[in-house]
Amino acid sequence: ARTPLMAANWKMHLSVAEAISFIAALHERVGSSQDREVLIAPPFTHLWPLRETMAAAGFSLAAQNCHWEPQGAFTGEVSLSMIRETGCRYVIVGHSERRHIFGEPDEWIGLKTAAALARGVVPIVCIGEKIEEREAGLTEEVLQRQLTAALDKVSVPSADALVIAYEPVWAIGTGKTATPQQAQEAHAFVRQWLEKRFDKAVANGVRILYGGSVKPDNVDDLMAQPDIDGALVGGASLKASSFARIVQFT
Ligand code: 13P
Repeated sequence: ARTPLMAANWKMHLSVAEAISFIAALHERVGSSQDREVLIAPPFTHLWPLRETMAAAGFSLAAQNCHWEPQGAFTGEVSLSMIRETGCRYVIVGHSERRHIFGEPDEWIGLKTAAALARGVVPIVCIGEKIEEREAGLTEEVLQRQLTAALDKVSVPSADALVIAYEPVWAIGTGKTATPQQAQEAHAFVRQWLEKRFDKAVANGVRILYGGSVKPDNVDDLMAQPDIDGALVGGASLKASSFARIVQFT
């Protein structure tokens, strides 16, 4: 069985002081449960100051981005060994904001995914179609293109070394969630693709998160779908009370 992964992507929000109170408040509400994993992806500047509080709470820490080179003259970038040194087990790669605001091409997502796997940081590979692509019936084609670019050249040592996040671009920050059926269809497609590309064990074990306007009042229906193994939450992850309710989906 796949352990649900409930992930907060804070994007460019919250100070370190706010983050420390958030973690205390969240821990008070959800405890350190063994049957679901709680993850927070704060800004880079917060990783080191939060590592001990996060570890003590039993929560997982993730970076929101990385560079694929081990070091070098790359002003403003952060390497995977630096990320690992701050206590991160995970790194988000290919988030739609990186792709669409900062112009990251598919090729970079492939390089980042491969580098994360090689350095033992679990990539959370984000994929998802735009509204015009969905309306043109191109959703599966887009997912396939993004999956291929990210994962074509890598080997995955075990199913827990990789996480996929399906985040339809039209659902991010818009209040328009994919219906549980739309999300399930996309997740099932991703799982089939994983089986073709890797094998049954990887396909059955990799967690596929849904992201895009996940809220306390829609998380239960989403999590009830057989191929939805967690959530990647933006806006509703910024308040401990609402993120706690999401973690405590039923
Ligand atoms: P919202 O939950 O604000 O729609 O953001 C989703 C997201 O981009 C998570 O990575």
